[in-house]
This record gives sequence, C-alpha cells and structure tokens, in this order.
Amino acid sequence: MKITILTLFVEQFNSFLNTSIIKRIIDKGLVEVKVVDIRDYSLDIHRHVDDTPYGGGAGMLMKVDVLVRALKDNQNPSSYVLLTSPKAKPYKQEDAYRLSKKEDLIIVCGHYEGIDARFEDYVDENVSIGDYVLTGGELAAMVVMDSIMRLLDEGISADSLKEESYTNGLLEYPQYTRPVEFEGKEVPFVLTNGNHEEIRKYNLKMSLKETYLYRKDLLDNKTLNDEEKKMLQEIINELK
Ligand code: SAM
Repeated sequence: MKITILTLFVEQFNSFLNTSIIKRIIDKGLVEVKVVDIRDYSLDIHRHVDDTPYGGGAGMLMKVDVLVRALKDNQNPSSYVLLTSPKAKPYKQEDAYRLSKKEDLIIVCGHYEGIDARFEDYVDENVSIGDYVLTGGELAAMVVMDSIMRLLDEGISADSLKEESYTNGLLEYPQYTRPVEFEGKEVPFVLTNGNHEEIRKYNLKMSLKETYLYRKDLLDNKTLNDEEKKMLQEIINELK
C-alpha cells in the first residue's frame, strides 16, 4: 500500500512515522509513506498558498490551483483521495477496514480557515475524525493512517483485531496483567483458572456490559444472538 500526505507542515509527521508500531510497519515495507509539502506547488515568488475568501469572512483559505497542482503531481489512476474536513460523518473502525484495502491513498490536510470549496471536486471522500474543529488536517491524517496501518501489520494477530472495540459491534472487555492483586483489587478469578469456555463467556458478558454502560447506541445497531441476549438481560438485572 502507498499513502501520500499533502500538507503544509511536513515536519509534523516526523515523530509519528518514526515511532513504535508505525515505524515497524514502514520498515517491514507493508506501507510506503510519502509526505509532500503543498507549498512546493505554489508558483508565487513568496510561496503563498492561501488567500482571503470571496464575500468576506475571517481567516485565509488554501488556494484551489496550488492544491490541484500538488494533487495531480502525486496522483495516479488508482489513487483514492481523502480530504480531511470536519464536514463528514465521523470516521469509524469500519472505514479503517474499508480504506486499508486501497492500493494508493492520498490524504490532503487543510489548514487556516479551510480550503477553496472547488477542491472538493477533485477528492473521492471527506474524512472527519469527530464533531469538533482542529487547526489543521495533520492530526486527522495521522489518526486515519494509524488506524489503517495497524490493520496491515502482520505482527498484530487476526484474533486480537477480531476482539477489539468496534470490530464486532461491541466495546472490548476489560483486560488485566500481573500482579494478580494490587491495593486490594484482584483480577477476576475466572480469568486465572485456565477454563477457556468460562473465560470466553466471562469476556463476552463483560464486553456487553462495557458497551451497555458506555455506548448503548452500538447495541441498538447490533443483532444479538440468544446467548448475548440472555447475558445482556442478566447485566441489566445486576445493575438495578
Ligand atoms: N472553517 C472550517 C469549518 O468550519 O468547517 C474549519 C477549517 S479547520 C480550522 C482547518 C482544517 O483542519 C480543515 O480544512 C481540515 O483539513 C482540518 N480539520 C478540522 N477539523 C477536522 C476534523 N474534525 N476532522 C478532520 N479534519 C479536520
């Protein structure tokens, strides 16, 4: 997979691309990442990339001609172009799975007051990481890249991805590591007794409980099997 970032702030990506699992994924050659400075595509002697909005209003907008030049120079027929923007449905894990199948992804980072609206005709999809406004698309691009790249990592087992929050429509169950007792708080006994079926049932029930407590809306969108329905009813009764 290839990911190209178009940004005015190339240096913001240095630490992200050179740390931990993301660095390992790049070093393994699973993803080729290119970070392109949009300013290199300004024809202006002062390398201007923004201008004031028609009709007035606060702030500066990134210019469509500069953005399109930057895009076209880095695009090929298989490129799928994402524009970071608060104007989209919030990004989800299912989007990460979908986008991880693309061969060639380009992520464009806006900045300042935003971009000239005509640039939207050149993109395949707007991507928002949540219902709030950031100063620029760089953090959003990193969030999207991180969520996609870890799905490509051969080091992350398929089982671990399957049980993660959102993958099966539920939040993940709570997990514990040594010591077995800390300041009077003990790891649930069932997790230490080695009975795999009991552990499966316990984790499933805890997963349903976390989802019920923190994201009831996910349960509205999930079809529960008989075992899950029974467990959920137990949880509701226990919480009364
Ligand atoms: N004026 C715009 C508005 O009100 O919709 C906000 C522009 S914002 C200050 C500048 C840039 O940050 C945007 O062009 C976009 O690239 C990025 N950005 C801001 N919030 C974002 C979000 N929630 N998700 C993704 N990108 C975002």
